[in-house]
Amino acid sequence: MNKNELKNIAIVLVRPKYPENIGAAARSAANMGITQLVVVTPSPPDQERMRKMATHHASQLIDNIAYFADVAEALASFNWVVGTSARQGRQRHSQKGVRRVVAELLPRLENNSVALVFGSEDRGLTNEDLKFCNVVTSIPTADFSSLNLAQAVAVVCYELYSQFSQSKKEAKQPVAKLASSRELETMYALLEQTLSRMNFLKEADYPYWMHNFRHFLGRLGLRGREVKFVRRFCQQVVFLADKLEDVEKRAGSG
Ligand code: SAH
Repeated sequence: MNKNELKNIAIVLVRPKYPENIGAAARSAANMGITQLVVVTPSPPDQERMRKMATHHASQLIDNIAYFADVAEALASFNWVVGTSARQGRQRHSQKGVRRVVAELLPRLENNSVALVFGSEDRGLTNEDLKFCNVVTSIPTADFSSLNLAQAVAVVCYELYSQFSQSKKEAKQPVAKLASSRELETMYALLEQTLSRMNFLKEADYPYWMHNFRHFLGRLGLRGREVKFVRRFCQQVVFLADKLEDVEKRAGSG
């Protein structure tokens, strides 16, 4: 997935009452890398009130707002439409959590355009608006479930951006190449030799301890260079043990 794929997402505001909320929603969208804003409205909103909340960072989004007089027209070109709604006592639609909905839409982004649709401050999305939605999602809240419009946009955009950037990181991360069994066996043999040289244990206990060491080191998924590091450490211990033995011998004979 490349970073341009967020270009396939649009925030659609249906009949927003307050231009300030459009501006604040544009700002949140820009914060999270979303560049398309669609507004369904019977008349153009007050530019000054809208731009004040958008700040100059989101002014491009405001310049490029696509205005429509009705919802059907606004959503016509989208392949996947996600409605948003505050949870209600008696739900009109089966609503999925926003995290799950975002996880489902991310793989679709590559070759589909996606609309995230938000309702008006007073009425939300009507049943007629919801008809166009493939899925309806709600942001989990405590008892008071209705968020401010622009804040709801911010939460959904955040969830989208965080999952999107996470999926990019995972895709980029090369899967580590682990040490081969042969490399590990060489390391275990040297480790056993080292433990023996250090008088770490009685001979009879070796199988038990080597089993433990294998279990512990094997679980880590060591890489080739880490195995080399353990081997060098063992070699150094053996070298020092030999040296110490020499010194002791000379002291004994002298
Ligand atoms: N009185 C309206 C509230 C509208 S709030 C109602 O009961 O529906 C304005 C818009 O913000 C909603 O239409 C929805 O798009 C979004 N919104 C608010 N709270 C939300 C929540 N908890 N989850 C998802 N969207 C929410």
